[in-house]
Amino acid sequence: MAKRDYYEILGVPKNASEDDIKKAYRKLAMKHHPDRNQGDDAKKSEEKFKEAKEAYEMLSDAQKRAAYDQHGHAGVDPNAGMGRGGEGFGGGFAEAFGDIFGDIFNGGGRRGGGGQQVYRGSDLSYAMEISLEEAANGKDAQIRIPSWDTCEVCKGSGAKPGTSAKTCSTCNGAGTVHMRQGFFSIQQTCPHCHGSGKIIPEPCTSCNGAGKIKKQKTLEVKIPAGINEGMRIRSAGNGEPGTNGGPPGDLYIEIRIKEHDIFERDGDDLHCTVPVSFTTVALGGVIEVPTLGGKAEIDLPEGTQHGKTFRLRGKGIKGLRSSYPGDLYCHVSVETPVKLTEHQRKLLKEFDESLRKGGDKHSPNAKSWTDRVKDLFK
Ligand SMILES: [Zn+2]
Ligand SMILES: [Zn+2]
Repeated sequence: MAKRDYYEILGVPKNASEDDIKKAYRKLAMKHHPDRNQGDDAKKSEEKFKEAKEAYEMLSDAQKRAAYDQHGHAGVDPNAGMGRGGEGFGGGFAEAFGDIFGDIFNGGGRRGGGGQQVYRGSDLSYAMEISLEEAANGKDAQIRIPSWDTCEVCKGSGAKPGTSAKTCSTCNGAGTVHMRQGFFSIQQTCPHCHGSGKIIPEPCTSCNGAGKIKKQKTLEVKIPAGINEGMRIRSAGNGEPGTNGGPPGDLYIEIRIKEHDIFERDGDDLHCTVPVSFTTVALGGVIEVPTLGGKAEIDLPEGTQHGKTFRLRGKGIKGLRSSYPGDLYCHVSVETPVKLTEHQRKLLKEFDESLRKGGDKHSPNAKSWTDRVKDLFK
């Protein structure tokens, strides 16, 4: 298959700036992230990702870009001269992705003090379920989250007491290896020590060589009033610790709101269904309705129909970014009386006869409905 043009792959013009190239690559990398592309798409996404990575590696290097602009793929074939150096671009997807987190998301492939690759820790996410009232009013919550302590046994070295870590012989402790590729030398994370620059011959049995031990800690979280389903609260630095002294990731608390017995939320507004007896809607009267802040009253006019909605201004929820609270919509649901006594049946039949004598005037919707049905069968 013919190779696609690097600029075309990234979707940038020939004169794109370094920054534009980086942005385009970052966008593609996110799009083809393995977490988002499972199943049938996984293989295709991996190919796309590798293609984008190659294009980015070529165009982000001024020398290689110049060679590519002049000679096309012949000038910079990434597979040329890669045989000896190691895995080259054939490395696993996870490894490739690790690279872009290292290169792009974590501050341009920074080097640690010891010359090792520095990685930011992973972000963690925590799902928190709260009630509608808590969402409306806010809440101070405490959650248990994982935390990591330096291993007491090996003092963080990861090596069994009495032994020590050795410098990686593949990269001589640099954490990266250079591979010749045509005229160029390419730098890659050392496949042997995975960038740490060290090999631990006898790992500490307490932490399995990690140098740190997972624990739990309690975190105070302030849930702001007005928060809604699916919103995330970021707790900076409470994710997993970084590698080789890299910064920790962040913790994201994702809000889930429990279903409420009475209210349904729609943005800042609330809705509820209020059952009302058919005599009350017929005669009119004051009914009591619940709100999040206590009880309220609605004055039902005489002859209120089923499905009629009454709006209580400001009785909804004040959203995180809203200046005013939303409204509460009360939907009238007329209840048909059940389990009638003989006496009640008699009264109702008498009442029905009297209604019939009055004709259509007692049934505001029936006449227009009968007319529409007639029209339908014309
Ligand atoms: Zn240890
Ligand atoms: Zn190494």
